[in-house]
Amino acid sequence: IGHASGDLLVGAQFEKGELVAATVFRTARRLFEGNIYWKEKVLYSHLDDSFDGSIERGVSQLKLRPLRIACQDATAQMALIQFMSAGMESAAVPTTVHCDHLIVSRDGEKEDLARALNYHREVYEFMESACQKFNMGFWKPGAGIIHQIVLENYAFPGGMMIGTDSHTPNAGGLGMIAIGVGGADAVDVMAGLPLELKAPKVLGVRLTGQLSGWSSPKDIINAVAGLTSVKGGTGSIIEYFGDGAKSLSATGMATVCNMGAETGATTSIFPYAPQMVDYLRSNHRHDMAAAIERIAPELQADSGAEYDSVIEINLSTLEPRINGPFTPDLSTPLSKFGDAVKENKWPEDLSAGLIGSCTNSSFEDMGRAASLAQQALDAGLKPVMPLLVSPGSLQTRDTLNDAGILPVFERLGAVMLPNACGPCCGSWDRVDMPKGTSNSIITSYNRNFSGRLDSNPQTNIFLASPEIVMAKVFSGNLDFDPTVDALITPSGEEFRFQNPSGKTLPQNGYLDSDTAYKAPPIDRSGVEVKIQESSQRLQRLAPFEPWNGGDFIDCLILIKTKGKCTTDHITPAGPWFRYRGHLENISNNTLIGAVNAENDKVNTVRNQISQKDGDVPGTARDYKAHGQPWVVIADHNYGEGSSREHAALQPRYLGGKAIIAKSFARIHESNLKKQGMLALTFTDEADYERIRASDRISLKGLNCLEPGKPLIMSVNGEWEVKLNHTFTLEQIEYFKAGSALNMMAKQ
Ligand code: SF4
Repeated sequence: IGHASGDLLVGAQFEKGELVAATVFRTARRLFEGNIYWKEKVLYSHLDDSFDGSIERGVSQLKLRPLRIACQDATAQMALIQFMSAGMESAAVPTTVHCDHLIVSRDGEKEDLARALNYHREVYEFMESACQKFNMGFWKPGAGIIHQIVLENYAFPGGMMIGTDSHTPNAGGLGMIAIGVGGADAVDVMAGLPLELKAPKVLGVRLTGQLSGWSSPKDIINAVAGLTSVKGGTGSIIEYFGDGAKSLSATGMATVCNMGAETGATTSIFPYAPQMVDYLRSNHRHDMAAAIERIAPELQADSGAEYDSVIEINLSTLEPRINGPFTPDLSTPLSKFGDAVKENKWPEDLSAGLIGSCTNSSFEDMGRAASLAQQALDAGLKPVMPLLVSPGSLQTRDTLNDAGILPVFERLGAVMLPNACGPCCGSWDRVDMPKGTSNSIITSYNRNFSGRLDSNPQTNIFLASPEIVMAKVFSGNLDFDPTVDALITPSGEEFRFQNPSGKTLPQNGYLDSDTAYKAPPIDRSGVEVKIQESSQRLQRLAPFEPWNGGDFIDCLILIKTKGKCTTDHITPAGPWFRYRGHLENISNNTLIGAVNAENDKVNTVRNQISQKDGDVPGTARDYKAHGQPWVVIADHNYGEGSSREHAALQPRYLGGKAIIAKSFARIHESNLKKQGMLALTFTDEADYERIRASDRISLKGLNCLEPGKPLIMSVNGEWEVKLNHTFTLEQIEYFKAGSALNMMAKQ
């Protein structure tokens, strides 16, 4: 039912003619008395058989059996290479690989796609052959963005999946628990191990009222991010409820869940709404739609379920919002944005507008944006800055074309990009703005960290709905408010936009454009995985050394990072995507974006052996060559941003022993442990300030490493403090074996 190819989803969903998701909710009922949340019905229906005991939210370590894994190409390369090292014949769980991140945007769909096919040929051939070999589905370059493909083909209410991408929660728009994980977690599940996850807390968001006028689902999540901050969802699943939740389209709910990642939440989910069934039918998933309708009353929280904490948002009074720059939780209502622009001296002239991506490229989003574009065109207006459009999938693109929506964008002279991530993941060869030039851009994408889109740290990235982006393209001013301000037409008249409008779904359903999918063959015995020994893009993995049984004594500090240190700072994307399958080569970007607390510079640290300044990866390599162990000292939420496990693999490969931080982002902390690194936190955050980059750090008590028992950090042998950790017994075994993969191969 999941996909026309007859993917394994059918077997996973039905048991004696009944939808498993409907029957297994009994598991959640056995575990909890009274009224239970929707997210708990779904999550605990996927517990591993071996799980036995009670569950305390925020404390218990769950073992879960997701029904599906989706991997995007930037993370899939290393995940597949790791899976190969585990020596298995076939993925234990239905798995798909999606070619979306590597395609660089510059000229437009045809040219960009052709260039990518040529430039990344060996990587695509490797992934395709590995998928064929290990019984995985392969979505070719141009098919679309991972989360859009999942929504169209695989997501369904009550299911659970994981994806090697932070925005996997997008599928929560169809009532699925969909969690972004690191490649190492995905490899475990591919190999038949359960997923380990600390039982999430629940953060309820009650939506009342109804969206109208310019307000859109993007404004809901922009508001939630502003209320929670980038850390506020950490350790929680955000569950939406209330009458307002029932008023949104399925793709609108997906937008909200997608950007829940910006709050640090484990995932986000909506309860059943008839719009989900409408969406399934529109995608020709009629059997699934019928099955879901049969059990609809069960697909939501029990009435009377009480949430630990609740945020209230009245959709009837919700204004459009603009978030940014540089962090997604700086949220400003449109009516106050003009003042904020002046107060903060943000560059007022916009240099580009971008719409689409997995966050906002639905039929509804694009239709509403096109309605505004058509108004402006009819008035004789033209865009005053470049507009770039990234459709989410081939199917959506074809459908939008058929409905006459894309032709409107073409009449604007928009650059129609491939169905891929493009600028959203830094794969943007931006030629109109020299690096280092301060400028502002506005986008309906979801991320706005420094340098995220165009590798220019001086680009101020603002996040807004596609409607707001489209309107601003005709003004070029950051502070233009299209709900009240006027533009002047070429004939000198005042022009004001009317409210945007558009249908939620195509009248006759989506066009069936799944020709970019390649299923694995029945007989896989003759398939060879294509990987050349001399490749500069792909490298087979050698196992990391196991722990030698001793404490880590006199480690140097490679860098003491200051402020935000996201995975983009630890291992930047953009041109480095090229080396995602080659650990030796990609390690040359390790921590090059992190700010050194000692000198406020990026990629400049004092080499404590040579006493000369050098770049971070070069210094790490020098320490490694001298057999000198090292650690990183870090601020809050280290590793925030994405699931890329390279951010853990690279420091490990270069000889790092531990990251000692005020706090960690969840996925990154798990990734570090999988690679045999110590992820430790200060018991007293003030100790971060006491440490100097020239100090020597000893980590003691490793042979007594136990869950919940702190380790001792000695600084220069002069003072000692305790460091906390969250290692489970199983994760301690990873550390001892050298990595989770070492342990798996042994087993
Ligand atoms: Fe791609 Fe951007 Fe979506 Fe990530 S958030 S999957 S980079 S489109």
